[in-house]
Amino acid sequence: MKIGFIGLGNMGAPMAANLAKAGHAVTGFDLAALCPEGVTAAASAAEAAKGQDVVITMLPNGAILRKVADEILPGMDQGAVHLDCSTVDVDSARAVAEQAAGVGIGAVDAPVSGGVGGATAGTLTFMAGGSEEAFAKVKPLFDIMGQKAVHCGASGAGQSAKICNNMILGATMIVTCEAFALADKLGLDREKMFDVVSTSSGYSWSMNAYCPAPGVGPQSPADNDYKPGFAADLMLKDLRLARQAAEAVDADTPMGTRAAELYAAFVEQEDGAGRDFSAMLPRFERRGRG
Ligand code: NAD
Repeated sequence: MKIGFIGLGNMGAPMAANLAKAGHAVTGFDLAALCPEGVTAAASAAEAAKGQDVVITMLPNGAILRKVADEILPGMDQGAVHLDCSTVDVDSARAVAEQAAGVGIGAVDAPVSGGVGGATAGTLTFMAGGSEEAFAKVKPLFDIMGQKAVHCGASGAGQSAKICNNMILGATMIVTCEAFALADKLGLDREKMFDVVSTSSGYSWSMNAYCPAPGVGPQSPADNDYKPGFAADLMLKDLRLARQAAEAVDADTPMGTRAAELYAAFVEQEDGAGRDFSAMLPRFERRGRG
């Protein structure tokens, strides 16, 4: 396939490189980052998108996605598909898909789970929204960049799934961290705590796969001085998207709201900016009830 790839940052670069390695003709564009090996550089987003079968975007947020969509959609071929893998608000995903449909282009929103490690190894999970036809067209690309792709429904459904997943992740990471801090104060050994919880009803991905306590459980950012990994700033972004979505449909999400407040304080008033989202544990270690 002929593929345009716009947004070659931490995630986009290894994803584009994997597509090129698999034999696809990939043309890339980024405002700042360089093209990875095997990807041909274009001079603009519009140039990277022109004449391609599929154009992938991997951008920081919904406002930038809308701007790039304005640049690329008018010049794309009829019947081509725009595949957006960024994490953005549901409204932006739906608006961009509608804009694409208006000019005869298919659209799939397919945010990812798995981080930079998954992008590099080609083991991402994609959660996708869009028509059956558009999904079928990009499915072979999901198989290269990832290990699983779930077609969740119509446009916006991928972003909806991502937001719900990350709301659960943010809340479970916080409660896992506060439970470790409580266990410390109760004099409970951290290894014993992990041993019990990871095989009891309190288990979760945050505890079992990404344990926030250094030296406990599998290797995780806690063992690397809380260097991300998945930055607290990005978790805050996703929790805010969840809040925005909940407000739009009048859903009651008190735990998600509290998680957003705690990550906002951590990132914006404390020392959380640029640290892994599991660095909530040292935050709770330092604090009493006040
Ligand atoms: P990043 O900041 O490393 O990359 C984004 C890239 O977009 C940058 O290189 C930037 O120069 C480029 N860009 C910005 N505006 C542009 C424009 N107008 N035209 C062309 N390029 C432009 O971010 P990332 O970590 O690669 O994340 C990308 C998306 O993936 C985000 O939506 C993020 O929430 C999501 N995501 C990230 C992770 C992760 O672990 N990093 C995991 C899952 C999902």
